Order: sequence, then structure tokens, then C-alpha cells
Amino acid sequence: MLSSRMAQWPDNKRFAFTVFDDPDSQSLEAGEAVYGFLADCGLRTTKGVWPVRGPLKASDNGITCADDGCVPWLHSLQRAGFEIGFHNATSHTSTREETVCGLERFAELFGNNPRAMAHHYHCNENLYWGEHRLTGVHRAFYNLLTRFQHHNRYFGHCEGHPYFWGDVCREKITYVRNFVFPGINTLRECPFMPYHDPRRPYVNFWYASSEGANVRSMNDRITEAAQDRLEEEGGACVMYTHFGHGYHEGGAVNARFRELILRISRKNGWFVPVSTLLDYLRSGSTTCISDAQRRTLERRWLAHKIRFGTA
Ligand SMILES: [Zn+2]
Repeated sequence: MLSSRMAQWPDNKRFAFTVFDDPDSQSLEAGEAVYGFLADCGLRTTKGVWPVRGPLKASDNGITCADDGCVPWLHSLQRAGFEIGFHNATSHTSTREETVCGLERFAELFGNNPRAMAHHYHCNENLYWGEHRLTGVHRAFYNLLTRFQHHNRYFGHCEGHPYFWGDVCREKITYVRNFVFPGINTLRECPFMPYHDPRRPYVNFWYASSEGANVRSMNDRITEAAQDRLEEEGGACVMYTHFGHGYHEGGAVNARFRELILRISRKNGWFVPVSTLLDYLRSGSTTCISDAQRRTLERRWLAHKIRFGTA
């Protein structure tokens, strides 16, 4: 069993809450509306971006940094204290050279390398992704469960492959997202985070997140009761969502989402971007997970996957 982890939060805050927002399907209009609301509530979270529009057909219609109006808006978020995160170079698979160019463009636009990233599902240059998220017998089970759809598909960590960029990731990026869990308290589900996995050496540190892929699942995850539990447990939530998936419809931000975020924002919580939270949890020491800890995380994630069938 994983033991729960109680953290002492800065300034006598009672818990932490943040979001990594995946840019899939997000229009500029929806992004501006949702982030305007978050900013007004005092939340400062992490906005994932695609720094370039790639040469192939996009896998998604969300905006990239190459689209009109996107960069000035992202700069305004940065100035307000939001973090800009990386979501691969673009929405389709990139070669090593294209990924390197994407990261250079990111640094040019935002003044620094990305500190946190999350992989885009459709990109075959993802590191340790698909079956490679799992080890040994868990990998075999995952392949059966997914009917080998993710077998031999992701190559970002494979030296010599045209999609390899593991060395670049290790040099430039601190935190990469891996497992997703159903509870609001991500830290309870993954008390080791951020952790280094010696079997996956090109990633400096992994972090986990809570399942809230679209407006409905986020609202189900952050109910009043769940918020109170997060506070009582002194926990930390890293919600993984797509603000392009149903948060802004008919010209307005979803009413239930507004109600829930307003409520949590009035609590004594620490509302900082993903990397700020992970830096604090790491606070100088490096957690290398053991084989037993890895097995526990993998088993727990597989159980969640069987139930929800999500990424
Ligand atoms: Zn994505």
C-alpha cells in the first residue's frame, strides 16, 4: 500500500491545487475566457503549448504558437504568473530535428526552456510511452488490454531512431507527466512525486496527475466533498485537463466549473503552477523509486485504466 503523504505548505496553506492544461481542441476564444476566469480567481496554473505548426496534417484543431494572436495572449499569461508548458513540438509526430527546433522556438518565445511537459497522445516521439510506461508483467498485461495498439509505437527514448530526443529532454526539461489517477489528491495516489525512475533515465523527474480530461470529468473530480477531502488531507492536486473540451460553450465558461473553482479558490490553498509545486515537493532531494514502488504505481494505474479506459 502507498502511505499518504502530508506536506507542510508555504504560508500556512492547507493544500495545493494546480492544473496542466493540454492544448487539444482549444480555440483562442475559449482559452482567453477560461484563463481570464482562473486569473480572476487567483489561480496560477500551467498552460501546455505547441510551439510550432508542423509540416504534416495536424492531429488536432487546437491553436499553436504559430497561429494569429496566440503568442501575445500566452505572453500575457506568463506576465500574470502562469507557467507555459511543453506538449511536444506540434500535434503530430516530429523527428529529432523537428523536436529540437520546437524546443528552440519555445525558448525564443518564452525566454526559457520548458520546465514541465506532458506528451501529446498522437506523437510517436513520446518517451517511454505506450507499453513502455510499464515494466515486466505489467507491460504484457497492458499490451493484451490494449490489443497491442501501443506496442512498438513510441520511440523518443530509443537511441539511433529518427524520433529519438531523450538526451535533449534530459538536458532541457525537468518534469514529465506519466500516470493519471482517479482521486483529487494526486499526492496521495503518488506520494513519491516528483520521482526519478532509474529504468527510464532520459526523464529527470516524473509527475502524476488526477483524471479530469474534460469539463464533465473535471467537475466530477472537484466536487465540494472532494475539495473538502483534499483540504483535510493536506494534499496536492495536479489536475490534467483539456480546457478546449467543453469548458467554454455558447460564449460562456461552464457554470458548474465556475461554481466549483470559485469555491476552491476561497479556501486557504496554494494555487501555483505545476513546476513551482513540484520544485517545492522535491526541495533539493531526489527520489529514485524502487522496483516495489514502481510496481505499486503501475498496478494502481492499470486498475484505473481498466475502469476508465483513458490516457
Ligand atoms: Zn494533447
